[in-house]
Amino acid sequence: MSCHDIGRGLSSVVKVILKKLDSGEISADTARDLLHACRMGVYWCDGNEYEAMIQMHQMRCGYCLKKLSKGDTIYDLNDVSNSFKTEHNDEIKAIDAMAADYFLCRECFEKLFDSIAPGAGEEQRRYIEEKCSEDRWHYKDCRRPWEIDE
Ligand SMILES: [Zn+2]
Repeated sequence: MSCHDIGRGLSSVVKVILKKLDSGEISADTARDLLHACRMGVYWCDGNEYEAMIQMHQMRCGYCLKKLSKGDTIYDLNDVSNSFKTEHNDEIKAIDAMAADYFLCRECFEKLFDSIAPGAGEEQRRYIEEKCSEDRWHYKDCRRPWEIDE
């Protein structure tokens, strides 16, 4: 049984960070570091990363932090092929370690994976589009009614 309270608690901090990012009070770099710390904070208990990140999960790029909208594509960096994962485990971990959340917009996904191997961005994006259901690589608001307050 995983703990849901730690994710809910960290989500309340994520909300404040996103508000300050959107109002321009803090930079994307600062926000990214703080958001990453919130995501990792769930491991102080047996929590779930997506619960801490629910206010941006699959709705905002985990790297550039831009807001996406219905119909936009967004990719989970963990959905890349197993052979690529095996070959580039450390590099993928390094991308994850600097991202606020593990869902990335198309531009950031391609840029970051191309930095691992030229052409890997498009290749792995296409792999995800073929392998996963559309639901998995499109904008999705995963919040439950009580988590939406604006
Ligand atoms: Zn992005």
